[in-house]
Amino acid sequence: MAAHVINEARRCLQCKKPMCQIKGCPIQTQIPEMIRLFLAGESAKAGEMLFENNPMSVICSLVCDHENQCEGNCIQGRRGAAIHIPSIEHYISDAFLDRIKISKERPKDQKVAVIGSGPAGLTVAIKLIQKGYDVTIFERMDKMGGMMRYGIPDFRLPRKILDRYQKKMLDIGIHFRPNTSIGGALHLDDLLNDGYDAVMVGTGVWRPKRLNVKGESLGNVHYAVDYLQNPEAYNLGDSVAVIGAGNSAIDVARTVVRRGATDVTLYARSKRIAASQRELDYAAADGIDLQQGMAIKEFTDQGPIFTPRIFDDEGNCIGEEAPVLRPADSSIIAISQGPKDKIVSTTHGIDVTDKGLIAVDETGHTTMEGVFASGDVVMGSRNVVVAVREAKKTAQAIDEFLTAKRDARMNSD
Ligand SMILES: Cc1cc2nc3c(=O)[nH]c(=O)nc-3n(C[C@H](O)[C@H](O)[C@H](O)COP(=O)(O)OP(=O)(O)OC[C@H]3O[C@@H](n4cnc5c(N)ncnc54)[C@H](O)[C@@H]3O)c2cc1C
Repeated sequence: MAAHVINEARRCLQCKKPMCQIKGCPIQTQIPEMIRLFLAGESAKAGEMLFENNPMSVICSLVCDHENQCEGNCIQGRRGAAIHIPSIEHYISDAFLDRIKISKERPKDQKVAVIGSGPAGLTVAIKLIQKGYDVTIFERMDKMGGMMRYGIPDFRLPRKILDRYQKKMLDIGIHFRPNTSIGGALHLDDLLNDGYDAVMVGTGVWRPKRLNVKGESLGNVHYAVDYLQNPEAYNLGDSVAVIGAGNSAIDVARTVVRRGATDVTLYARSKRIAASQRELDYAAADGIDLQQGMAIKEFTDQGPIFTPRIFDDEGNCIGEEAPVLRPADSSIIAISQGPKDKIVSTTHGIDVTDKGLIAVDETGHTTMEGVFASGDVVMGSRNVVVAVREAKKTAQAIDEFLTAKRDARMNSD
């Protein structure tokens, strides 16, 4: 592994205008500089630089869409094989993770509540503890990580990495309240009444989208995000139908295969597949079948019933065939998620969009004074690196808000 990473690093041309970084990376990871430091024996400095720019660097090195991002824009890829940049980033960030030393500014005597410990919440918590704020994370689940822990399967993102993260977060002084759902016993107003000077909502999108077809509540039908939270809880049988063909649907199908199902099929409504080619290749390698042009009509105890669609050469649907039953022991619906309304329905003054996402201004401030929001709960289902990028901006806006609050308090004293 190490020799491979070194060889890859040595192939970097140190481009003056590095497209891998400028065009390829949503968070502008300093790729040539990372590689330069690494080859100069300054891995720790490279790790520090990566963490400062992207506290989820070690995770992004595993789960980003590298083919279309850094690697996809590597100039070496024009002539032959692109440099395997994520392996280099992973090697450096993984080695650095347990050694991170967070320098903190003088304590500010102001408290921030962060609701949700996905990449958005963790990024805001890290950035603000560095600024000297007292930070508490409230998390509905028992551990930190959000969809990184309870959505992305562990064969793609080992849970050990998230455990090491959690330990680090606690070591640097972030307070953590697990198993605490805001909007349940505690409401957001309670946090403000208890003296938190700002609140950041990073609760993601966890409400499975319904298909609204007959049979959706049957005992052998499940939703992807529910299943992925705890696959051990399910007894799916040998044959499983997965409805949807995006990356999440493929995560479901590959997890189901690993848990012993022998006959797993992905059913896509259209000819266009949302999943990336690499994910489709992995699904094929795992023996998962893909059926396109199958519109779900109904679920039964014997399996889902589809209406097969007929397409012309351009991929336009020009007709339908008679419905068919595809026998399956279980079905899993994997067609995306929307936001839950637990917080907004128990708080007055937080506006939402027509999709139920939290409405914010360009700084991440919601319509309620002192309450900010970031990540998927604002943008809808996106990805880790974009959640981090947006959360960095929100952390800065919270710092500015709290600085102004401090200044106003000093002026009035
Ligand atoms: C199956 C699947 C696979 C994915 N694969 C990838 C991938 O390969 N690469 C990639 O980059 N992205 C992937 N994503 C998307 C990525 O995980 C999300 O975009 C990202 O995690 C969003 O970050 P977030 O912090 O906004 O929210 P989340 O990660 O969803 O975190 C929100 C947190 O808030 C908590 N919470 C919610 N409500 C409350 C409440 N009321 N009180 C307290 N806590 C609350 C939740 O428990 C959760 O921990 C995947 C998503 C799924 C579902």
